[in-house]
Amino acid sequence: MINITFPDGSVRQYEKGITAIDIAGDLSPALAAEVLVAQVNGEVYDLQKPIEQDATVKLLKWNDDEGKKTFWHSSSHLMAEALEALYPGIKFGIGPAIETGFYYDVDLGDRTITEADLRKVEDKMLELAHTKEHFVRREVSKAEAMKNYKEKGDEYKCELIENLEDGTITFYSNGNFTDLCRGPHLVDTSLIKAVKLTSIAGAYWRGDEHNKMLTRIYGVSFPQKKLLDGYLKMVEEAKKRDHRKLGRELELFAFSQRVGQGLPLWLPRGAMLRERLENFLKSVQKRYGYLPVMTPHIGQKELYVTSGHYAKYGADSFRPIKTPQEGEEFLLKPMNCPHHCEIYKTKPRSYKDLPLRFAEFGTVYRYEQSGELHGLTRVRGFTQDDAHLFVRPDQLKEEFCKVIDIVLYIFKTLNFDRYTAQISLRDPNDREKYIGSDENWEKAEKAIMEAAQEKGLETVVEYGEAAFYGPKLDFMVKDAIGRKWQLGTIQVDYNLPERFELEYTGADDKKYRPIMIHRAPFGSMERFVAVLLEHTGGRLPLWLAPDQVVILPVSEKHNDYAKKVCTLLNNSDIRTFVDERNETIGKRIRENELKRMPYQLIVGEKEQEKNEVSVRRQGGEDLGAMSCESFVSLVKDEIEKQLSNN
Ligand SMILES: [Zn+2]
Ligand SMILES: [Zn+2]
Repeated sequence: MINITFPDGSVRQYEKGITAIDIAGDLSPALAAEVLVAQVNGEVYDLQKPIEQDATVKLLKWNDDEGKKTFWHSSSHLMAEALEALYPGIKFGIGPAIETGFYYDVDLGDRTITEADLRKVEDKMLELAHTKEHFVRREVSKAEAMKNYKEKGDEYKCELIENLEDGTITFYSNGNFTDLCRGPHLVDTSLIKAVKLTSIAGAYWRGDEHNKMLTRIYGVSFPQKKLLDGYLKMVEEAKKRDHRKLGRELELFAFSQRVGQGLPLWLPRGAMLRERLENFLKSVQKRYGYLPVMTPHIGQKELYVTSGHYAKYGADSFRPIKTPQEGEEFLLKPMNCPHHCEIYKTKPRSYKDLPLRFAEFGTVYRYEQSGELHGLTRVRGFTQDDAHLFVRPDQLKEEFCKVIDIVLYIFKTLNFDRYTAQISLRDPNDREKYIGSDENWEKAEKAIMEAAQEKGLETVVEYGEAAFYGPKLDFMVKDAIGRKWQLGTIQVDYNLPERFELEYTGADDKKYRPIMIHRAPFGSMERFVAVLLEHTGGRLPLWLAPDQVVILPVSEKHNDYAKKVCTLLNNSDIRTFVDERNETIGKRIRENELKRMPYQLIVGEKEQEKNEVSVRRQGGEDLGAMSCESFVSLVKDEIEKQLSNN
């Protein structure tokens, strides 16, 4: 017998060689129907794979990331089977699961497939799924695997097999289709109840432009039809919230081919929004003892050679800038940290000076391939809400807690209610590849775990995901329509203090290295604005909206009164303008509504006479007529409420 431990800590005994699906069946038939794949001692297992020793077993369902991944990856096999049935002789590259579904790269020879054909493939997939084909695993020798694909004439699989080690190769078959794959997969295809093939794109074999361009077919699948319906609705909603579209409509930012790809231009309204966000964070940081610093956009190449960034970014990034001076070279800065290290070094530091917290909205430049650029989320120049904390080892945990406080305050103020954190730690089996002493690492990892726990964060811990220079904590938020975005990062660093030989004098008069924490709660201003727009659909909180109030005079006769009210509001720090365009009042209301104007004030005969305004809130709610003073307090109260959540 073997002992099986479950996530709740309970233990049950089973025969050696029991499978996860049998365990699920033993626990409850309902669970057995829902479970997709299992985690056995941390490793993802086919449900039918025998468990040979004592193990911790987690049964994963659709709502678990690994469950979904297995479901989608299995669906890519199903799609491949359908494609092979419809296009005999088709060759296959790779077919992984991705964040939002799956794809398969295929070579159709001289045939082509268009979006119109996808329906046929979907139907075939569902037809095959219905026949409940089992995913059957078979271990094969390298020679046998190679022979199989040579006979089939699939050079892509042959290339993949060449790089595999004999004795580790497995085939999986579903119905008439067999694939080279490591697994795991679902038990059978009947779990796949709904399929949508979403798009077709070209993709070079192995991402190398010297190779043949294959056809990449993307899809997504679900265990219930109603989940697909929900997904399709979400896609529609996501289109409406696309920050690139909102950026144009709300006149926030633009791109110019002449200025260059991936280099956003902030329009006045966008710049106002950004300024407000910056001021908001600055005031929070001031409360937490951050000190402002400013550094230039370029630095000598040597600086980045010292920091190691040249080795990391040099080859694949912007070329150095040369001057008339022989041998003088500068780089656009890819990171602010080296500059901040030099600021640390401007004078001797004592243990009493720490922690030091240098903050800068620093613009950095990184080359991204043009195909990778996307609105504000992938750009070539962006401004980080950066800060570097220089701390003593005994201060690490407290500083970490404070940074988490700042991040959570921001999330709360901006209505990101759903978030999780990922803690990335060392690979326990390969401690060689990390810089810094074992003792320091242990301290830092413990500090992060404890800080996260004290702050009540919902966390996942990933071993082996830490950078070579330190552990980190990343925040993921879920937006209003359920999409996940990675935002703020808090990163511990032992490397740069070493490389820059940073020191402080301890109480014992000896020299010590400070530990550095890099942190950026927004990530970058560009990315954060993009996420904020997609989260809110452009309906920004009142305090943040570039324009808060627009006044609409009913006719020309009321322009003067409108301007008087406008001045009064602006004097009360409410950002207001008059829309006196020669358009009907109805049209102006509609257009300002599209611009997501938080408040529209309509002023006509009646309002002018009584010294009032008629108030319309964004979304159409009519608050009726009120005095200007009442409106001012209404706005002030609302802003105060939005900002005072702590
Ligand atoms: Zn597979
Ligand atoms: Zn940094």
